[in-house]
Amino acid sequence: MQDTLKHKGMRKKLIEVLRVKGIDNQMVLDVINEIPRHLFFFDTAFLHLAYEDKAFPIGSGQTISQPFTVAFQTSLLNPKKREKVLEIGTGSGYQTAVLSKLGMKVFTIERQHALHLKSRDLLEEMRIPARCFYGDGYAGKTAFAPFDKILVTCGAPKIPDALKEQLKVGGRMVIPVGEVNGVQHMLTIDKVSETEYVTEEHGDFQFVPMLERTDNAD
Ligand code: SAH
Repeated sequence: MQDTLKHKGMRKKLIEVLRVKGIDNQMVLDVINEIPRHLFFFDTAFLHLAYEDKAFPIGSGQTISQPFTVAFQTSLLNPKKREKVLEIGTGSGYQTAVLSKLGMKVFTIERQHALHLKSRDLLEEMRIPARCFYGDGYAGKTAFAPFDKILVTCGAPKIPDALKEQLKVGGRMVIPVGEVNGVQHMLTIDKVSETEYVTEEHGDFQFVPMLERTDNAD
């Protein structure tokens, strides 16, 4: 699949929409402008919708997050080059690509096996470096902890303890927390010491639920 001038034009318009909606982190806008989101749709019938500011189904009952949500969560993460980031919910791999293009070392976990394989292969094909794992994000990834940043891209009923533990002191987690199938509050959780965390709220969102265990257990 190709990235044409038409796609590039549509991305420019999307950047303006995001700017109007309040996204002002230029580095984040630059990578969204650079990455062909339509390649992450997996289904060619809907490519023309790739640059609308909307979430979209990607199979296995999951969605690729709305561009505004990706831009908003990424901005809250305050990404820095060479930081280690753990993403929960690889999904299409689009958010993974955004973090990687920002120069972060990305580790990402997906609980749906089919999606894990698809996004892993796509990222590899696009030569976007990221370590993709099939597993349950509630457990984090002890082998590669601690992380400078953790980004959860599914709606969590509570803050998973393992993720708090796997955050570096001085690190930040961005996580939508709230009732499953209701609204979630976007939280930033800053780890200020081994035992202290500072939590702030940044508005309401709706995500697909963060489920326990892998799809083997469904
Ligand atoms: N970052 C993705 C968003 C996908 S939607 C993107 O840019 O496309 C959220 C994803 O989280 C879904 O693919 C869902 O299967 C996954 N998910 C839900 N619970 C999970 C868990 N416990 N561990 C890992 N992934 C999970």
